[in-house]
Amino acid sequence: MTLTAPPRLLLVHAHPDDESLWTGGTIARYAASGVHVTVVTCTLGEEGEIIPPALSELAAGAADQLGGYRVAELRSACAALGVTDHRFLGGIGRWRDSGMAGVPANDHPRAFARGSLDEQAAELSAIIASVKPQVVVTYDAFGGYGHPDHIRAHEITTAAAGDVDRVFHAVTSRSATETGAAALATWDDLPWRLPEPGELPVTDDAEITTAIDVSEHLVAKLRALRAHSTQVSVWQDGARAAYALSNGIAQPVVQAEYYVLARGSADGAGADLFGGLD
Ligand SMILES: [Zn+2]
Repeated sequence: MTLTAPPRLLLVHAHPDDESLWTGGTIARYAASGVHVTVVTCTLGEEGEIIPPALSELAAGAADQLGGYRVAELRSACAALGVTDHRFLGGIGRWRDSGMAGVPANDHPRAFARGSLDEQAAELSAIIASVKPQVVVTYDAFGGYGHPDHIRAHEITTAAAGDVDRVFHAVTSRSATETGAAALATWDDLPWRLPEPGELPVTDDAEITTAIDVSEHLVAKLRALRAHSTQVSVWQDGARAAYALSNGIAQPVVQAEYYVLARGSADGAGADLFGGLD
């Protein structure tokens, strides 16, 4: 990096766990190198499916305490990744997890995806104005996999990040995911089923502008994923590691995290979110 101003990275995520799943290695890498990393989370993830049976009564349809529980998971994950600046958009609990498209939670009065886009973008603009990041990360227009809260996170970031040097969309690489899944298929001791071809959301490598090598930071990423134990199960045996969400589909832990540059100069951005900025 050649920045004269202190480098600052801001990531906008929909739910607790997304920071680790989508960008955990990137966060750990830049935090370890002295970059000021700000993570903004838009909801408490109240509608998540709960993996450990012992915690099932936290669910939205029961005690409805999952959001508060996930705040603690998120704090542990941030500690694992080296994040010291975490914020909830609009303050903690302002907007609620909308659930997947078509579920009753979409209609909750505080559902993030039905909230005022102007208000949400103004809240994010205020954070950006105070942090002054050079680089902002969020999802693509499809929210990575179609979740309404991820799509809204993309929309408010697109509206609010007008003055930053670069905006990136976090994606997953088709080739890296397929290679990783092929490796999983050779492990006969995984506790989950393998992904079917095309089942995991991926982006064609021709669209990917930036690959961040996170191989030195997978320990931190896996520790952060383990912190989200209501949502993520991690399996590890020596150097072999995989994880699964509540759907029980094994997912590979790959050596890089991938981005599509959405705004700003591509010069120097191939392997470093800040590369070529001055
Ligand atoms: Zn999410």
